[in-house]
Amino acid sequence: MTTYDQDNIFAKILRGESPCIQLFEDEETLSFMDIMPRATGHCLIIPKTPCRNLFDATTEQLQAVIQTVQRISQATRVAFNADGVTVQQFNEAAGGQEVFHLHFHVMPRHEGVALGPPGVMADMSLLETQAEKIRAHLP
Ligand code: 5GP
Repeated sequence: MTTYDQDNIFAKILRGESPCIQLFEDEETLSFMDIMPRATGHCLIIPKTPCRNLFDATTEQLQAVIQTVQRISQATRVAFNADGVTVQQFNEAAGGQEVFHLHFHVMPRHEGVALGPPGVMADMSLLETQAEKIRAHLP
């Protein structure tokens, strides 16, 4: 299927049907903690309007999302005293995409520290503590 699936988990988060640990929202974008983080402070940025990935995203959606990616990258860098930030984005299953609503990963990085494995559920109270740190550095 290459059409937009209204029942993907991020669509449910946007409709308020599933919870998320929110970091930031503006008219066009939403950012929240990844529940299976591969780095301390791993978060996600999505457009509020539907699109699967880079293949069907509009210029307006991409512009809005990348601005929030920059904002969140800057905040996580300061919040975790990171040496760098990795931004990842996957398109279609063959490209590594698992949730079919456009999203960018932001992962703060420290010299010599590898990314953790995918698919490991975080402790929600720890994620909430990390989210507080990030929010404190958002304008
Ligand atoms: P991708 O599509 O980029 O390969 O992976 C989807 C990402 O969404 C993964 O990093 C996964 O941990 C995250 N994820 C999957 N389900 C949920 C959820 O219900 N809530 C949150 N906050 N993140 C999720």
